[in-house]
Amino acid sequence: MRRRIVAGNWKMNGSKDLAKSLVGDVRSEVGSLANGVEVVIIPPALYVADVASLAGVDLKVGVQNVSQWSSGAYTGEVSAEMAADLGCQYVLVGHSERRQLFGETDDVIARKVERILGCGLFAMVCVGETLEERDAGDAEVVVAAQVRKALAAVEPGQWERVVVAYEPVWAIGTGKTATAGDAQAMHAAIRKVLCDMGAPAEEISLLYGGSVKADNAAALFAEPDIDGGLIGGASLVAEDFVSICRSVP
Ligand code: 13P
Repeated sequence: MRRRIVAGNWKMNGSKDLAKSLVGDVRSEVGSLANGVEVVIIPPALYVADVASLAGVDLKVGVQNVSQWSSGAYTGEVSAEMAADLGCQYVLVGHSERRQLFGETDDVIARKVERILGCGLFAMVCVGETLEERDAGDAEVVVAAQVRKALAAVEPGQWERVVVAYEPVWAIGTGKTATAGDAQAMHAAIRKVLCDMGAPAEEISLLYGGSVKADNAAALFAEPDIDGGLIGGASLVAEDFVSICRSVP
């Protein structure tokens, strides 16, 4: 049985006060959820220690990015080792904002995945096509190539710590969500790529991200290949985020 996961990516938002109130509110609600969903909070790196101290056993914690190197003269970077040291379980990698705004290439992403898995952490690998790519009919080809390149160096025993998040770029922060049917089709295609790569595809959790809200989460999560969500804006409001966590069947 693959895990059901809802992860909240705060992006560059929040404060110590928000961390305290939001994590407290989410924790008190999700601790009692009977659907077995794994809830992950992914704050800015500077707040990871605060969130980790408040998360308890009910919530998992992640970071939004790590360096492709372990340590050394890389001013401004944080390593996967440091994330593990602070009690993180997850690392987001390859988010479209990193690809588009910070020039992250497939090669760099693959090296980060290697570091993350090498440190015993879970890699939440983001993939997704732009609107131009979708309109040109290339969405599946683009996403398949991203999956293959990002996960090229995964070793046989490491697949159980790989999660793939499909986030169509045109759906991120726009209020436009992929239809449940379109998202399901892409998730099924990703699972096929993983299978072709020799991965235990049926065991790997695939998340949908991009304008997931309390009112559209249930339809998305009801699809057979959608194992949860990666939530941006709605993860900053406890009530909305908890409602999304409750939408997991
Ligand atoms: P929104 O939910 O705000 O569209 O963001 C999605 C996302 O990028 C999560 O990583």
